[in-house]
Amino acid sequence: MAEEPKETKQGFQNPVAGFGVTFKAMFKKRLTEQYPEQQKTTAPRFHGRHQLNRHPDGLEKCVGCELCAWACPADAIYVEGADNTDEERYSPGERYGAVYQINYARCILCGLCIEACPTRALTMTNEFELADSSRANLIYTKEQLLAGLEEGMVDSPHSIFPGTDEQDYYRGLVTEAAPGTVRQTAVSKGEKPEDKGAGA
Ligand code: SF4
Ligand code: SF4
Repeated sequence: MAEEPKETKQGFQNPVAGFGVTFKAMFKKRLTEQYPEQQKTTAPRFHGRHQLNRHPDGLEKCVGCELCAWACPADAIYVEGADNTDEERYSPGERYGAVYQINYARCILCGLCIEACPTRALTMTNEFELADSSRANLIYTKEQLLAGLEEGMVDSPHSIFPGTDEQDYYRGLVTEAAPGTVRQTAVSKGEKPEDKGAGA
């Protein structure tokens, strides 16, 4: 019997071979993610949006030193430090971060800034939904980056815990705002003395 021509044999086998790939893929584990309807949990040490942390009494940890900005390879951080006063105190020490911005159009989420921060004021969260159609909206301000208030905290500015100094905050001796602590007037932000208590 004459052997079937090679071309005819291949002409039959090729479509079958193609379906073979399809059938194999049907039984493999699905890699498609149903984002954004179903969100996957990120790794615990995921590098997401930054956060400016507070001490347990609500004062800010940032001292406006700019080390994070100098460490940033993408030049994405802008910081302006200012002096605290007894009438308007944002952090326990001498200085605080008056202006703080991170430009997420530049940031590559490398984490070098959080390594450079001497007070652990700057850390990264697991939030990754940072896309926006406006460049201006991608510049996050201090107000957006500052951590929310937890139990026992009073919003800054307010006075230091009585009888303590800056070092005590880093020793963990201040665990909440002293009874009677009230938010001071933020004159540097344009608040007037009659607005005292606003935003507390
Ligand atoms: S994560 Fe990296 S790129 Fe982003 S602000 Fe920090 S140092 Fe800059
Ligand atoms: S976040 Fe840290 S490194 Fe950056 S200015 Fe504040 S204290 Fe300094």
